[in-house]
Amino acid sequence: MKIAVAPRIGVGGSLFTAEQWKSIGDVLHADAKIEFTTFKQLYIDIEEDHFDETKEKLVEAGLEVYPTGFFSKNLIACNFCRGAEEAGLSVALKLNEIVAGHAVPSPLKVGYAGCANATSEPLFKDIGIVKMKAGFNIYVGGEGKSIKASLAQILFENVQEIQLIPIVERLISYYQQNGKTKERYSRFVQRMTLERLKEEIIS
Ligand code: SF4
Repeated sequence: MKIAVAPRIGVGGSLFTAEQWKSIGDVLHADAKIEFTTFKQLYIDIEEDHFDETKEKLVEAGLEVYPTGFFSKNLIACNFCRGAEEAGLSVALKLNEIVAGHAVPSPLKVGYAGCANATSEPLFKDIGIVKMKAGFNIYVGGEGKSIKASLAQILFENVQEIQLIPIVERLISYYQQNGKTKERYSRFVQRMTLERLKEEIIS
């Protein structure tokens, strides 16, 4: 079976330690292949019978383990170059907890940027969150793949921290409940329309 492995989000970005690389090496055969995805996860193949002990070893090493395939990915965050507080690291960690690992109609990516420079490219993600001076902007429907790539559109502006988590949770659960099988989030947003999505999310 294939599993996804990622380091914890932190100042400096998605950083692995040398010890963590060793832990990954320890759970794999010497000739095993490790895939580095475009969404900052490592895909590794392990024996299904050994899933629990493998996960335990990787988590002990400070790594995170997620399912692959039609699940929401862990948060794709920026490097927090402005520092943990100014770039909102604690919010990003809370977001990561609520966005990762949900079964969804098509793989879902949520991006986060700690300032308007948005160097983690949240506007190319299904859901993008950007920390602004007055609050958080939430964008939906970005599509980084294909020659029809398109930017996410703004859904809510200057959302306060207390509202951010429930809104993002609702954006995911609404997709789980109403998305068609294999329907990408960008298509789902187009079908629903921004206006309807806005109404449904805050109702
Ligand atoms: S989005 Fe802003 S805070 Fe985050 S790494 Fe880029 S420039 Fe730094």
